[in-house]
Amino acid sequence: MVESIFIIIIGLSVGSFLNVVILRIQRGTSPWKGRSTCMACDKALAWNDLIPIVSYLALGGYCRYCKAKISFQYPLVEGATALLFFGAYSMVFPLSGNIHLFSGAELGDLFILLRNWVGIAVLIILFVYDLRWFLILDAIAIPAIIVVYLFNGIFFYHTPACVGLSLVSCVLSISLMNYLLAVVIGGGFFLIQYLISRGAWIGGGDIRLGAFMGAFLGFPQILIALFFAYMIGSLVALPLVFLKKKEMRSEIPFAPFLAIATVITLFWGESILQLYSSAFFHF
Ligand SMILES: [Zn+2]
Repeated sequence: MVESIFIIIIGLSVGSFLNVVILRIQRGTSPWKGRSTCMACDKALAWNDLIPIVSYLALGGYCRYCKAKISFQYPLVEGATALLFFGAYSMVFPLSGNIHLFSGAELGDLFILLRNWVGIAVLIILFVYDLRWFLILDAIAIPAIIVVYLFNGIFFYHTPACVGLSLVSCVLSISLMNYLLAVVIGGGFFLIQYLISRGAWIGGGDIRLGAFMGAFLGFPQILIALFFAYMIGSLVALPLVFLKKKEMRSEIPFAPFLAIATVITLFWGESILQLYSSAFFHF
């Protein structure tokens, strides 16, 4: 119980920070410097205005000072981050009900948890930013490809796959060729569409996000993620296009679909693969 609460508090705090990052990238200011201010009246916010979700609920969704409406994005991002961080934690460290955090942790497990938390944070930023401002942030997506790739390398360094190898040769070895393959599939899938349509269907940002999904999920999980992205995308986009509410692609941000599909695959990709192989290969 204590363990769960602690992880949820970490998730809420990171979610609150992600809101700051999203807002300040949009305004072009540093996320590390300066106090958070109200978007409407610019008044510096007090510590008790910044408690995730609680402040929003206590103030009924309005600024304490000028009564301007606060975007629903804030509690939503905080809540989603907490939920997904908790899910990612319990996936690596099954909850035992004791108060020892990271109980029985191997160093490799910690890096997988860290990779999952970083990956989830990246996806949340890209999701919100593309939804609101129709742009996939290269400044986030490109470094994220390298970071999750290295986390995977350090994880494999602590598994039998890399016994006797140096860290560098482990990162370059067979177990990580899998992730390289996934990067090529994820990025290449969108690159081909980009080239065929001369940038009409797909933006350059989608290519970078596809590569990130590959580095994060590996192969064959990347295939599942791309499949789900198109399923969800079609379910949401086609009605909008038919109702003439949106032009095909031009107005529909794709990062949210890719982010949701990546999270589904992160949590359930393994089970889906097992289901698939038992359905088709064991008669
Ligand atoms: Zn205000």
